[in-house]
Amino acid sequence: MQQTVVEKNTLTQISQSVQQQKDYFATGATLDVDSRIKYLKALEQELLKREDDIHQALYLDLKKSKAESYSTELGIVLVELRKAIKHLKEWARPRRVATPLFCWPAKSRILPEPYGTTLVISAWNYPFQLLFLPLIGAIAAGNTAVCKPSELSPNTTQITDEIIGAVFDPGHVTCIQGGIPESTALLAEKWDYIFFTGSPFVGGIVYQAAAKHLTPVTLELGGKSPCIVDKTANLDTAASRIIFGKYINVGQTCIAPDYLFVHEDIKEELISKMKERVNQFYGPDPQQSEDYGRMINEKNFDRVVSLIDEDKVIFGGKRERGDKYISPTFMDNVVASDKVMQDEIFGPVFPILTWKDLDEVTSFVRSNEKPLVLYMFSKSKDNIQTVLGQCSSGGACINDCLVQNANDNFPFGGVGQSGIGGYHGKHSFDTFSHLKSVLHRSSGFDIALRYAPWAKNYKKIKFLIDKTL
Ligand code: NAD
Repeated sequence: MQQTVVEKNTLTQISQSVQQQKDYFATGATLDVDSRIKYLKALEQELLKREDDIHQALYLDLKKSKAESYSTELGIVLVELRKAIKHLKEWARPRRVATPLFCWPAKSRILPEPYGTTLVISAWNYPFQLLFLPLIGAIAAGNTAVCKPSELSPNTTQITDEIIGAVFDPGHVTCIQGGIPESTALLAEKWDYIFFTGSPFVGGIVYQAAAKHLTPVTLELGGKSPCIVDKTANLDTAASRIIFGKYINVGQTCIAPDYLFVHEDIKEELISKMKERVNQFYGPDPQQSEDYGRMINEKNFDRVVSLIDEDKVIFGGKRERGDKYISPTFMDNVVASDKVMQDEIFGPVFPILTWKDLDEVTSFVRSNEKPLVLYMFSKSKDNIQTVLGQCSSGGACINDCLVQNANDNFPFGGVGQSGIGGYHGKHSFDTFSHLKSVLHRSSGFDIALRYAPWAKNYKKIKFLIDKTL
């Protein structure tokens, strides 16, 4: 009975929020670019004011250190906010494009216009940036936004709600807390755009809900990102960068290298260097390290532990459920049929597979779903070109891990099972804008041959089309 009342209240609150946003958008209040900049600046000030609270929330949810929180969450959001504030006028300007002779005299422009009322649903692993980065794009492009952060990172979700409440009118931006019931109720509404970050499974649910209203979507999903190492790689830097990329946020990173795919001749040397790096970065007991995080909850702890095959563990394998701790764990001699290779790991277990011939690598990657990122450590231009040319992935990074994400000139996103669309920097603005094509013709000059009857003009029409379009 109580459950029904709660659900009813939530549903009422959700439909009221959506209606409030539709009404707000209809007033035209979000269209003025100066006003958008004003809100982005207000958001920046509020984030700076709440900096300590944000760090604290991320520590409580994921035991992220301050340095990790700043470099992977708050800092990234501030950089993108400042970039949007600085460049918004230029991004929002009409974009002139050429006009073919056939359409002369005329001007051709692309006008970025906001979609309207948007929904942003995010995941728990980078709970701060995954909500605020798309939100910056939504506001910059002149939309309203209802934000649904993850229920699994409750401290960050609470701070997010407070920050949004302090800066925005709820008709402009609002936060709805909750899990599947709230998300389901939100998805039942008619949106002008949906931006979703999460698993491919839930991405499918979102896509189906969006399809009912032909709502455009961005789906930022996950998958198994390979980390390929060939014989030419610099193994010292490879070891450091792979361990950095795998173990930041304890492997709970959508772009973490999921599995290591290493040439058999250098496997032992690379593994030995990777073990050294774990020791160097996190000490002999990573559980005591300030820089080694925790699994988000017991359910994810149990899921990742269930992927560990004790017979294949060559490093780590220690865990403590009460502390949601799993040590950096390497598994050797892994094959495609092993449980750990069936789904995205999203945790600190690192399966190691070997290869002799590069064809094995490309055919293995191609036989699986398209990954979000492909990592390759190599000095061989031919090998790099072969892999990049033959394997499709959302993005790729050669000789490093994760740092590609710091370049917001790239549209960040997946392909196939790892997602649809991209964002970051100006791409976020474009993602949340409908790019309206406008041909503005002169009304003073008209060519009669475009009008019927056409038969006598066929040759002239053909000439015009062939020569001027
Ligand atoms: P998830 O799909 O379980 O949840 C994401 C969001 O969807 C949450 O807000 C959740 O409340 C909501 N949700 C969950 N089940 C739902 C349902 N049945 N109907 C409607 N909404 C539902 O994902 P997660 O566990 O929060 O995050 C992990 C996944 O997200 C991994 O696959 C990871 O790779 C992916 N991810 C991708 C990116 C990216 O940018 N591409 C970033 C972070 C995480």
